[in-house]
Amino acid sequence: MSSKKVNLSRRRHLKTSAKFLSFALLLTEVDIAWGAKILGVRIWPSEDYTRITLESDTPLPITQQILTNPDRLVVDVQGLELNPTLKDLVAKVKPNDPYVSQIRVGQFQPGIVRLVFDLKEPIKPQLFTLDPIGEYNYRMVFDLYPTTPLDPLMALVKSSAKKESALEKSNEEIDLIAQFANKKEKEVPRNPVAQAIPENKPLPAPAKYQRLITIAIDPGHGGEDPGAIGAAGSREKNVVLSIAKRLRDKIEGEAYMRPYLTRDGDYFVPLHVRVQKARRVEADLFVSIHADAFIESRAKGASVFALSQMGASSSMARWMANKENASDLIGGINIKTQDRQVANLLLDMSTTAQIKDSLQVGNSILKQIGGFAPLHKGKVEQASFAVLKAPDIPSILVETAFISNPQEEARLNDDGYQDRIAEAILQGIKEYFSKNPPVARRVNS
Ligand SMILES: [Zn+2]
Repeated sequence: MSSKKVNLSRRRHLKTSAKFLSFALLLTEVDIAWGAKILGVRIWPSEDYTRITLESDTPLPITQQILTNPDRLVVDVQGLELNPTLKDLVAKVKPNDPYVSQIRVGQFQPGIVRLVFDLKEPIKPQLFTLDPIGEYNYRMVFDLYPTTPLDPLMALVKSSAKKESALEKSNEEIDLIAQFANKKEKEVPRNPVAQAIPENKPLPAPAKYQRLITIAIDPGHGGEDPGAIGAAGSREKNVVLSIAKRLRDKIEGEAYMRPYLTRDGDYFVPLHVRVQKARRVEADLFVSIHADAFIESRAKGASVFALSQMGASSSMARWMANKENASDLIGGINIKTQDRQVANLLLDMSTTAQIKDSLQVGNSILKQIGGFAPLHKGKVEQASFAVLKAPDIPSILVETAFISNPQEEARLNDDGYQDRIAEAILQGIKEYFSKNPPVARRVNS
């Protein structure tokens, strides 16, 4: 039955009686509801934001209200009847969700489902809809952001405070010893005390690093965006998060470095936000970690990519960049947000110097990986990856192996391989910074 027909009959009934009217109204709503089916409900909690996704076979209009005392977000979805899939959402809220304490779902009116999100704190919601893409049908997306976003730099400074002061202290000691040694050299002929210092005591290496080096580690994909999926079902987003955490732990073990993860859980981070986050923490290096697929399952070997301003270095590199850049479409971003426009302006800045440094660090890492794993190509490739566009941070993307190659998929799930890849990236980073120590920053007061 078409809704036009129902409307016509509604008009006719209008004249007859109120009883008929309500019957006709009901028909209209049921008519819409018959077309709509909820295919999936997903919730992705994180400190950054909590995302709730409803997937349907038809685009459905949504309206929102924010209520306080207590804090709630009320969303009405039109053209929908309550069904078991929708009710599943209630059980999917995790107790450690930073923003949502519970979700209530009910039939508000015939044809209107009401979702009430009980909140742990006030939030800034972003509600939007997405057209079908990839494996997904229509999606309604509710992103719940904190009203005061966390400051990643403050958190990082706090968590690395001990290391920072240890570095300062060791630098001071090194300076003192150097001064003393200098003095001793000059005073040797007439100062017997200085001569008493044992000659064979090894002096520590001179201070190389005036401050902690911040490494932004960027595990690709996440949440709604699974990344590439292997024949055995491995998801790129999980494999790369695991490798990224290993790299984080290794960097944490270095006295003069501190790690920062652009995501530490299973949630989606838009490409421009990854770049913004790295800039917010004043990263000295940005390393994006992936494990992608190619049309041919024979394709194998690790590769390292840097940004290109003048076209891709190969058709494969171009293909990879296009694939990675599609992450925002699969993961789903609200194209109306203003910060995206700001980000686009920033990305137009020159990246010539950045690319030069990126190629250097990329080659160091590639050399390390080549020591134990097959390489797809023996040099750093270049293409227009959106995630590598920070104008002021050397940025590389490591394809740790092809998840589309069954042999490599197995290796990617292997603890030993994950650890060796992380170690190779660490050694490449160390080699690069030993040749290019970062300059001291102006002290902010
Ligand atoms: Zn990827």
